[in-house]
Amino acid sequence: MSDGNGRWQNDLQDGIRRASDLQRLPVGEADHAAGGSFKVRVPASHLSLIDWQDPDDPIRRQALPSARELEFLDGELEDPIGDAVHSPVPRVTHRYADRVLLYPTYICAMYCRHCFRKESVSAEAAGYTLAALQPALEYFARTSSLREVILTGGDPLTMADDQLRELRQHLETIPHLRMIRIHTRVPVTLPTRVTPELVDALAGRLMTCVVTQFNHPREITLEAREACRLLRGAGFMLLNQSVLLAGVNDSVDVMKALCQELVYALGAKPYYLHHCDLARGISHFRTSIDRGLEIMRALRGDLSGLCVPTYVLDLPGGYGKIPLGPNYVQTRDGNDWVFASYDQGVRAYREILRCPPDREEVQD
Ligand code: SF4
Repeated sequence: MSDGNGRWQNDLQDGIRRASDLQRLPVGEADHAAGGSFKVRVPASHLSLIDWQDPDDPIRRQALPSARELEFLDGELEDPIGDAVHSPVPRVTHRYADRVLLYPTYICAMYCRHCFRKESVSAEAAGYTLAALQPALEYFARTSSLREVILTGGDPLTMADDQLRELRQHLETIPHLRMIRIHTRVPVTLPTRVTPELVDALAGRLMTCVVTQFNHPREITLEAREACRLLRGAGFMLLNQSVLLAGVNDSVDVMKALCQELVYALGAKPYYLHHCDLARGISHFRTSIDRGLEIMRALRGDLSGLCVPTYVLDLPGGYGKIPLGPNYVQTRDGNDWVFASYDQGVRAYREILRCPPDREEVQD
């Protein structure tokens, strides 16, 4: 991270950059120990959002280490969604035919305590070099089913503008690629990093989609709004994926406010709500699936469809995403269905179909 207008570099410089910097914060000794095991970094502006009077503050919970990160439960996994199972070449996970994950850097603006890749992000110090990505670029060129390359983390928006431009230009030479997708928390944790120069580096032949990760409405600051305004102003598609996190957003009221502000303040469509994965050291963030379904039922009833994400679970072993509902089908008998409606009612519905279906009409 070496270019830009200086503001965000100062923000990183003045923030928490390593575990020893925690000494200057009201963080307990036991929590410091977790900072020694998993990387710590918090930009100064993000630290300033913390309410220090509240030990359970949702910003603090996501940003500062907790002794509970060192408690590993039976069944938790180092690679919780099987990224390594589907890695044909270094720095690539290829799980689905038309899209592929690329890890151009393992550096993040903030090391989120709930990150499901916290072990790989903490183990790898590697940043971006074009040489390191050469096998990936060759793999993309010979895999004609690919349409999207997803830059993920580490956080790709920690790369310098010139590096992002260089990578985009190389991807653009592969004719079957249509989209570059960027998964990033920078608009949340270091929003001043989003500059006109950064936007210019990302714009080109490929459709650009930026997928942010706002998890709490208090993260939607004036700076975050400006960052999202710049991204949308460039014509980029803007989506958000949140993680369902105990003590952060596992309440109907918080999740409603978050989803509404994403749409109405940021213009970011809530895309996924991820059930917290089985990564080691994040059990204190994990809620039950029942809780997630309860929240989703409330969102579906009360919010515009634009504000409702899809609740998903990533299966261990690399078997991909499962949409979790809630399930509105109660029973079915032939063409007679019974649904649970948003207002807690039970509603019968009879399908009216041509029998047998009119073939010509179907083909239309
Ligand atoms: S920015 Fe993304 S990859 Fe980095 S620690 Fe946070 S969630 Fe993990």
